[in-house]
Amino acid sequence: MLKYVKILPHSTGLFLLNMHKDNIKFQKLETQLRRLMAKASGDFGLLEAGDRIMVCLSGGKDSYAMLSLLQLIQQKAPFEFDMVAVNLDQKQPGFPEHILPAYLDELGIEYKIIEEDTYSIVKEIIPEGKTTCGLCSRLRRGILYRVADELNCNKIALGHHQDDMVETLFLNLFFGAKLKAMPPKLLSDDGQHLVIRPMAYIREHDLISYAEYKDYPIIPCNLCGSQENLQRQAIKHMLHQWDQINPGRVNNIANAMCNVVPSHLCDTELFDFKGLAQIDLPKLLKL
Ligand code: SF4
Repeated sequence: MLKYVKILPHSTGLFLLNMHKDNIKFQKLETQLRRLMAKASGDFGLLEAGDRIMVCLSGGKDSYAMLSLLQLIQQKAPFEFDMVAVNLDQKQPGFPEHILPAYLDELGIEYKIIEEDTYSIVKEIIPEGKTTCGLCSRLRRGILYRVADELNCNKIALGHHQDDMVETLFLNLFFGAKLKAMPPKLLSDDGQHLVIRPMAYIREHDLISYAEYKDYPIIPCNLCGSQENLQRQAIKHMLHQWDQINPGRVNNIANAMCNVVPSHLCDTELFDFKGLAQIDLPKLLKL
């Protein structure tokens, strides 16, 4: 019996083949990112049974990706946890208010949009030309903590990734003379709120690719008119160059943050150098 085979035009066949390849690449990337998030969760106790997590959504690629990956984990995890997405509309000029509700309605998940005009407060207090991010972030943090309580959330998830954490390490090192970064899990100063960073093991370049595949409705992050912290930009540039010259260097730095040897640093609070003494072997062996 003769089989009828439809011959596709060459260009259509190539297009479908490329689409198929892209699809496979996307699936691989998504699986890899989900696994990295699950690993960070396991290593630091980020997602636990019974959690109600407030997922902070800014409208940038990182927070969109965090929500997508958390949803995947929620579907596969052997325990149950609950999530509510929260966006803080800070009343920056030109903020497209309709984008996030439309996106979240489509996803069908619980969400809340908080409207607080921190933009005007910041503009009133900070003189023209000075960096506004410090005060803006403090105001935002206070509001998010309050909203987490109102929504009965025991954890607040932020969309920082591994590159953010390494950048913060160098910012503190170069400009603050401190060896500290951005932790995957943090207890607020008043001891009432747990902040988690489920993307602690995920690189930014992977999030850029993921966001491109997902085609998120990105909201620009420069609506407030403030320039991104110049010191952070310089560090970002330095790390990018290092990674190009020595691929894997940023990964090594990130791994080093999980592999600290206090006895080989100089912090007397972390290690009792004065108490260091030779071991009295005969006494130890009761000879
Ligand atoms: S860039 Fe603008 S919105 Fe973002 S923290 Fe700075 S002042 Fe606030």
